[in-house]
Amino acid sequence: MPGRILVVDDVAANRLIARAKLTASYYDVIEAESGEQAIELAEREQPDLILLDVLMPGIDGFETCRRLKSGRTTMHIPVVMLTALDQQADRLRGLDAGADDFLSKPYPDMALFTRVSSLIRMKQMIDELRLRHETSRELGLEGLTSIDAGLNFADSSVLLVCDSSDLMAGTVADIRNRLGCAIETAEGEAAARALLASNRYDACVIGPNLSDGEPMRIASLLRARPETRQTSVMMVFPPGDLSKAHLAMEMGVADYLTYPPDFAELTARLKVQLRRKHYSDRLRSSMHDTLVMAVTDPLTGLYNRRYTNNHLESLIARHQPGGQGLAAMALDLDRFKSINDSHGHGAGDEVLREFARRLSENVRGIDLVSRVGGEEFLVVMPDILAENAERVAERVRAAVEETGFRLKDTPAPLSVTVSIGLAFHRPGEAGSTLINRADAALYASKNSGRNMVTLAAAA
Ligand code: GH3
Ligand code: MG
Ligand code: MG
Repeated sequence: MPGRILVVDDVAANRLIARAKLTASYYDVIEAESGEQAIELAEREQPDLILLDVLMPGIDGFETCRRLKSGRTTMHIPVVMLTALDQQADRLRGLDAGADDFLSKPYPDMALFTRVSSLIRMKQMIDELRLRHETSRELGLEGLTSIDAGLNFADSSVLLVCDSSDLMAGTVADIRNRLGCAIETAEGEAAARALLASNRYDACVIGPNLSDGEPMRIASLLRARPETRQTSVMMVFPPGDLSKAHLAMEMGVADYLTYPPDFAELTARLKVQLRRKHYSDRLRSSMHDTLVMAVTDPLTGLYNRRYTNNHLESLIARHQPGGQGLAAMALDLDRFKSINDSHGHGAGDEVLREFARRLSENVRGIDLVSRVGGEEFLVVMPDILAENAERVAERVRAAVEETGFRLKDTPAPLSVTVSIGLAFHRPGEAGSTLINRADAALYASKNSGRNMVTLAAAA
């Protein structure tokens, strides 16, 4: 999995040491000796991770981090700040500037590699989401311009798993005060399992002392189940238990602290996790929106023609010979142009929406209802007997004719009718041929006076 790491330090000897360690583990290393150079290189080379020194002439590490985290092409690259051991305030400032993590110099190799490999893995997951998101942007969806847009910690929820007699219990009030997020507690594994079964949390902090169960098992449970896999897991280990921390991060735990945790640091790290969770949630949901957009008609919420055509082909491919039939119903509103002409385009849209509603209401849940043109609709009905399909078509026709359409700005209900053509799938027939026959039957309805159902010829 190794990736490319940008090492930023004004002292050449420090860069050399970092390079030696990282290249020994097969990371590809590039170097910058100032903040300005780091930003330029990060934009151009798109490293997978940036190791950033705090003290540098020119713009310092904090400012460099802030600029990287607000640049559209660099905001997603994880940044690890390198601080002096005794500078707790610096670390918090770093996390506040948007850094993903920090290491205290001189850092043990294990700590370096644990953090680096976990962050690079996270980055590669985000890259995959970003790539798909870029595709959505090309399709006209809004881009994500900042990691934090729309982020409000008060909307986040956190689960803290630890023993109530433990010092960590004091963190609840502390986190709530500092972040304002919802926070629940579980004293051990059984309680945690019960809460996780019915709640979703953005982050879960697991302490070292539990009334029952094992911290690592809870972490692995969270990672193993699809419903909780997106929850960021943080663990608190007894000091000196770095190998356990390493194992935990390999397993997908996002971050760890040593016991007893510094509250300010715990909160700052939790913020990093919640921010990252928020960002990947938005990437995921925009992807979901894109998928929905690609297959639905925005006016009525019905499926669109592209989706229906594809889906019809797979229904036909799956269709069992000897099973019940598959029917296609083509529908077209009668004299729809005159509704637009007399009442306006807005009224026409209202009619289309109301028609879509009545149509959906009068077919079965498994039937595929789509809007395939302006006032043209198609319903694909799998596993249906011919006489039932005819009954459905007649019911739809009547449901439109019998009750006038009430519109917002039109005093009297409008009378609307629909013409329908119905065709039954023949063995071996392509979906497009089936649709053409339904369309031909629909035009027969139009030619015979409209407001009626016509069956397609059997041959
Ligand atoms: P027929 O009974 O023969 O089907 O007559 P018609 O007027 O319904 O058919 P025609 O195809 O001549 O006209 C369809 C009209 O539908 C023309 C177009 O302006 C209108 N239309 C298409 N899409 C929309 C839409 O999204 N909203 C509205 N309000 N009107 C639409
Ligand atoms: Mg029409
Ligand atoms: Mg038409």
